[in-house]
Amino acid sequence: MAVDIKSLNREELEKLLVSLGEKPFRAKQIYSWLHVRQVTSFEEMTDISTKLREILKETCELTALTKIEVQCSKLDGTRKYLFGLADGNMIESVLMRYKHGNSVCISSQAGCRMGCRFCASTLDGLVRNLTPGELLDQIYRIQQDIGERVSHVVVMGTGEPLDNYDNLLKFIHLLSSEGGLHISQRNITVSTCGIVPNMLRLAEEKLQITLALSLHAPSQEKRQELMPVARKYDIQQVIEACKHYFERTGRRITYEYSLVGGFNDSQEDADLLARLLKGQNCHINLIPVNPIKEREFVQPESGVVLEFKNKLEKYGRNVTIRREMGRDIDGACGQLRKRYRKGRREP
Ligand code: SAH
Repeated sequence: MAVDIKSLNREELEKLLVSLGEKPFRAKQIYSWLHVRQVTSFEEMTDISTKLREILKETCELTALTKIEVQCSKLDGTRKYLFGLADGNMIESVLMRYKHGNSVCISSQAGCRMGCRFCASTLDGLVRNLTPGELLDQIYRIQQDIGERVSHVVVMGTGEPLDNYDNLLKFIHLLSSEGGLHISQRNITVSTCGIVPNMLRLAEEKLQITLALSLHAPSQEKRQELMPVARKYDIQQVIEACKHYFERTGRRITYEYSLVGGFNDSQEDADLLARLLKGQNCHINLIPVNPIKEREFVQPESGVVLEFKNKLEKYGRNVTIRREMGRDIDGACGQLRKRYRKGRREP
C-alpha cells in the first residue's frame, strides 16, 4: 500500500527516506514542501532530484483535497468549503474571519456515529475517520485559497474527534510542529460530545489545546434525550473528566450549551447549570440551536438567550453567546455535504 506521506511526522519521514536510500536531511526539505509551502504534487518540489520525485510518486500518496464548492458570506467574510477526498467522500470546513485572525473549523470524520438529535452531520451515520493528512489539508487548502495565514483551528465540524483519537493526536502534533504550519496549541480547540476514557487520555498528552465539551443540558435526564452518548458516560462522569483535564493541563474547559426553545432554556435550567458547574474555572458558550429540517427543534424566543446568560452571570459564571457567522449562507454544519450526497442540491 502507498505511504500516506502527509500524515508522517519528521522522524517517520526520515525513516522513509533512509529506506529509499536517501540522506536523512532530505526529510527536512520534503517536510517543508508538504507543510509550509503546502504543495499538492511531487513535481512542485523543485529542489528534489527528478529521480527521487519519481520514486516518491511510486511509493507514496500525497493527500490533496479538491475544492468542490465554496459559499461566501457577504456579511462577515465567512466561507464554507465542500472538499472532495481521494475516495470520493466529501467533507465540510468553514473559515471565519475575526479581529484576532483567521479561524478554520475542520471536520474530523466523514459522517458521525454519535447520533446527537439536533445535529445534521450524524443523520447518515459514520463513513470513515479522516487521516492526519486530510485533517491538515483542510487548513492548507483554505490558506491557499485566501492567500492569508490561518491562526486558529477548531475541530468542531462534522465528526467526533475523540472517536478518531490517534489521527487527531498526530494531527495536533503536525499542525503545531516547528517545521510545519507551527500553529500554537493554545489556538487549537477540540470539541467533544464527552467520550470519557479518551478525555482522560487526552489529559495526559501534555498538550496546551483547549478542550470544549458539548454539554447542552443541565441534567442527566435531559442530556440523554439529546445525546445518546450520555447513556454510556453520564453527566457526572463527564464533568469529573473535565475537572481532571483542567487539573492536569491548567487549561480552562469551554462548555458548549445549545439552547433549544422550550427544552433547556428555562431559568430553572440556568439554575441547575450554574450549580452543576459550581466552583469550576470554566467558560460557558451559549449557542441558539440551528434548526435542521429533519427535527423539530426551534430556537428560544427572543430575549430568552439573554435572560439565560444574565442568570448564569448572577452566579458569577463566565458566559458568552456565540456570535452567528455567515448568517446569509446559513445551514447547520453538515447540511452542505448532505445535500450533495443525496444528489439533489437545491440552487
Ligand atoms: N462531535 C463534537 C464536535 C462536532 S459538533 C462535539 O460533539 O462536540 C460541534 C458543536 O456543534 C457541538 O457542540 C454540537 O453539539 C453543536 N451542534 C451540532 N449541531 C448543532 C445545531 N443544529 N445547532 C447548534 N449546535 C449544534
